[in-house]
Amino acid sequence: MSKLESTRLCSVCGRRPATQKMSFSDNFAGYDKLYGGGYVCGVCAELIRSWRNKHFILVGDAPRELKREELLKAVLTQPPDSLIYVKSMGRRLGMLSCLRFSATEKFAALCGEDEGFVYVDRAILSKLVDLAQTAVETLRRKTALVEGCRAGEWAHRELCEEVERWRRSPVMSILARAV
Ligand SMILES: [Zn+2]
Repeated sequence: MSKLESTRLCSVCGRRPATQKMSFSDNFAGYDKLYGGGYVCGVCAELIRSWRNKHFILVGDAPRELKREELLKAVLTQPPDSLIYVKSMGRRLGMLSCLRFSATEKFAALCGEDEGFVYVDRAILSKLVDLAQTAVETLRRKTALVEGCRAGEWAHRELCEEVERWRRSPVMSILARAV
């Protein structure tokens, strides 16, 4: 990693001046294709280096780790100009495609390790959090949120229809790890 004297913007977030060139191991196939150059700002460099295996919220330039049990509340109360990252296995740099985006008054900004970036209307997000919680309480398994109801579970018909309506959405896939 070398220091860089330049006014070019970070090739990951596009928001802050690039301060260093990161070298990526061969594990990160596809990096060059997406982000030629690898000139990054200090914030992105730190996130890429040390935060891929954590859930976190990035507010301004400051990341804060979120415990799994904090995630639902965090997505429902996300402040504008922030980004929430929800890891899955913690191996991939799913954050790379997200760091240029942030929440607004109307839209939450979520990033899943596997799902990538999702803007979601806060009213819809709130509804989906309710649905996810109800489904897990009723069916007693999280996998229903992404796989749908099993034959025996369709006794809860209204609930299963709602699950079926949303289970392929990246937001529900992210929430299934947070609920
Ligand atoms: Zn950056």
